Amino acid sequence: MATAIYPGTFDPATFGHIDLIRRAAKLFDKVVVAVAENRDKSPLFTLEERVVMLKEVASGFDNVRIIGFNNLLMACAREQQADTILRGLRAVSDFEYEFQLAAMNRHLDPGIETTFLTPSESYAFLSSALIKEVASLGGDVSEFVPPQVMQALKRAYSAAP
Ligand code: ADP
Repeated sequence: MATAIYPGTFDPATFGHIDLIRRAAKLFDKVVVAVAENRDKSPLFTLEERVVMLKEVASGFDNVRIIGFNNLLMACAREQQADTILRGLRAVSDFEYEFQLAAMNRHLDPGIETTFLTPSESYAFLSSALIKEVASLGGDVSEFVPPQVMQALKRAYSAAP
């Protein structure tokens, strides 16, 4: 039984994240999507909102579970008995940070590997930050996020002062 843990802020989930979840669900017996509280990043959506949105959009995958966490990733990975951390690589620009993170995580627990997957080309430029920027200015992002996320973005930005 190989288990992958896919950590991230998912603020909000995009079709890029879902592309990775779909690929991982085929490769691993179990995939745990671990939504980080990440208060430092001042997320637009609460941890609970991000978890609920992901549960809705990933409900079609039998071997995928969504959890929230606010402790150290490697501690959470051990609790979940994960064999590998899954991260996405979009472009060369992701590489340096991801390389550092993988090295630190290996230092913290040499028994847990990091696996990288790349998304479909159509999502290679997609980030939650870009989605929020465009949506906050009234741009249409419906091609890049599921309908539930689209609704949540509309609510968040129409409620803004
Ligand atoms: P974090 O704050 O941990 O980077 P994100 O939610 O931004 O959280 O991303 C979680 C993971 O998903 C990261 O490994 C990131 O590289 C990956 N990811 C984000 N967007 C995409 C995308 N469009 N295609 C592939 N991977 C992605």
